[in-house]
Amino acid sequence: MDEKIAPHLEELTRALGDLEKTGIRAEFEKLLAFRVPPEVAKESLLRKFGGKSKVLKVKDLSGNLKSFEITGRVLDLGEKSIRPQDGAQEGPSKLYTGILADETGSVMFSSWKELPGSTGDVINIRNAYTRIWQNRVRLSIGEQSLMSKIPDSPLPSLSELSGSQTKKLIDIGAADFSVGTAACVLQLSHREVLVRGRQSRVISGVLADETGRLPFTAWIELPGIDIGSIIRIEGAQVRMFRGMPSVNILNGTKFSPVKPEEAGKLAFTFESTGKDPDPIRIEEIDSRDSMFDVATAGNVVSVRPGSGIISRCPECSRVIQKASCRAHGKVEGIRDMRIKAVLDDGTGSLSVMFPRELAEIIYGKTLEEAEQLMISDISKDAVYEDLRRFLTGRYLAVRGNSSKSEYGISFVAEKAWVPEEDLAVRVVKLLHRLGPAEEDGQERNSQVSGGGIDLA
Ligand SMILES: [Zn+2]
Repeated sequence: MDEKIAPHLEELTRALGDLEKTGIRAEFEKLLAFRVPPEVAKESLLRKFGGKSKVLKVKDLSGNLKSFEITGRVLDLGEKSIRPQDGAQEGPSKLYTGILADETGSVMFSSWKELPGSTGDVINIRNAYTRIWQNRVRLSIGEQSLMSKIPDSPLPSLSELSGSQTKKLIDIGAADFSVGTAACVLQLSHREVLVRGRQSRVISGVLADETGRLPFTAWIELPGIDIGSIIRIEGAQVRMFRGMPSVNILNGTKFSPVKPEEAGKLAFTFESTGKDPDPIRIEEIDSRDSMFDVATAGNVVSVRPGSGIISRCPECSRVIQKASCRAHGKVEGIRDMRIKAVLDDGTGSLSVMFPRELAEIIYGKTLEEAEQLMISDISKDAVYEDLRRFLTGRYLAVRGNSSKSEYGISFVAEKAWVPEEDLAVRVVKLLHRLGPAEEDGQERNSQVSGGGIDLA
């Protein structure tokens, strides 16, 4: 081997693994053939294939993730020819599609490259990304991705991974291709929707077990199923709806009511799942892509600009500025009120949106009263300033849905209240977090008590 290139190849191997298998060796040679200096070739390959990528499991996948690594067993594989667009130089290209699974779930994938294996094989993919396609999260393998076959993988066998995996609701991920679960129907309603121009009746509602709740949609009739029923579902699909995974019951989905004697063995009942959710820590909400119907509590640390009285377009409900909508031009705006506040519980902070009904409750003023304040103060910011003074530092509990977007986690409140939890309990908890050592903590306790907080 050329002495000049050996150290570079060693370095690439350390950073990127087996160069032969992944095809990086060939890429390196190609660059050298174009008279790229070995040093520069190495740097460019390190940049291109990323030395340290995030390693994810199927359950971690959500929409629009970039350059991560994932390993899974191919459950299904097919290929189709894609006709190039008119005027394109190349001939038809092949798209490989299928399902990849690990012990946490299964996901649909599409690849522009031929896979280094077939159904049943375990494949490692680097520089993979995800897309949302038809409301589903899809694993994408592009030109920049590297694939290699893993011969002796500890992943479960093909037969174990095939079929739908039975999961608790909290473990159902946004990317799950096919899931099974046993859950209680907490809410259920019928609605008419247009599907490809045809009026169809769908059932939507909420499922619950001892770990949480998820929305569901059934595109088929569910005879004998009603609120309070405990059902077993197999082969349901997960689709994204308003940033939230939702369980879809389709033609191919099996469902059946759970028999009473079997239901007795489950860790939940209709009564237990119907209870209000216990508040959880903000860090737990922050750590997940989305959570449906959860409760949390914290202090208002800031009220964000854009809170207060706003105008909405009567056509599309977008917030408008200067009586002009981005989509509908000059319109007569409709007055609305909302509050965006940041709650902090010491474990993390969360941006919470309070729509008008809740904004009126936590602010203690109606939209009309807030308008009066704006008029009497002759200031656009009067309501915002008043909100800041009134809300900052208050302790609030909220219940609603959280979802991650490119701007971070946002939480839309559906309920809000001032918790009755004893103030003293919270102060003790706070001191406990602040106290670095036991004896030090004692001292802080007395100082803070002297500072005006009455623990008694
Ligand atoms: Zn509009």
